[in-house]
Amino acid sequence: MEQERLIWDLQALAQEEYELLKKDGLKPMVVRLKQLQESIKRAEEESSTLVNLLAEAEAKAAKLDREVARMTKQAKGSKDKLYQAKGGSLKELLSLQQSVVKMEEEITNSENRYMDVLNEIDNLKAKQKQVKEIIKSLKKEYNEGVKEYKKTVSQIDVRLAELKLKREEIEEQLCPETLRLYTETEKRFPRNAVAKIKRGTCSGCHISIPSVLVLRIKEGKALQRCDNCGRILINIP
Ligand SMILES: [Zn+2]
Repeated sequence: MEQERLIWDLQALAQEEYELLKKDGLKPMVVRLKQLQESIKRAEEESSTLVNLLAEAEAKAAKLDREVARMTKQAKGSKDKLYQAKGGSLKELLSLQQSVVKMEEEITNSENRYMDVLNEIDNLKAKQKQVKEIIKSLKKEYNEGVKEYKKTVSQIDVRLAELKLKREEIEEQLCPETLRLYTETEKRFPRNAVAKIKRGTCSGCHISIPSVLVLRIKEGKALQRCDNCGRILINIP
């Protein structure tokens, strides 16, 4: 009975160890960390695209600014010429006046375009700020996830070490035959080498056990195996 209880406990340890080694609890964490890495990568790509767009827009704004200054200077020159014109023909004056009007229109157009580009720059800067915030919060979440992952891994390692110790403790209490039988059977059934008798059947393979064998098991003199599957049969509730 004592030996039966011990190998039953040994099996419980083997089952817990198996579950821990599967590391099921870590899988969702790994998935989440990968998703976060992807999101960070995408956000950083977006950020560098924005840097380029901003540089382009700023170059465009500087160019328009120079253009407006140049055209204003040119228009001023033409206006001076128009006001100071003496002795020119009416035709010449009209043509000069027309060119001044045209230049002023062009200046207004360029100024409007310049304002549009400035607006675009403001929008890009706002977007850039937003993306930076997103990257910051994603990185924070990622780092916390990594910390949590490492913590869980070390908890698993600690528990595995505990299980190993417990296993050794139990093995020390087993008589050599029982240990040999268990170790041998465990090779075939790593997680359920031991079965109970449930209403005359083996809890491992669910095949009924001959009554002679049930009797021998209940006597408890030596451990018996199931004739059908080969698991060790024990008689404990
Ligand atoms: Zn069986």
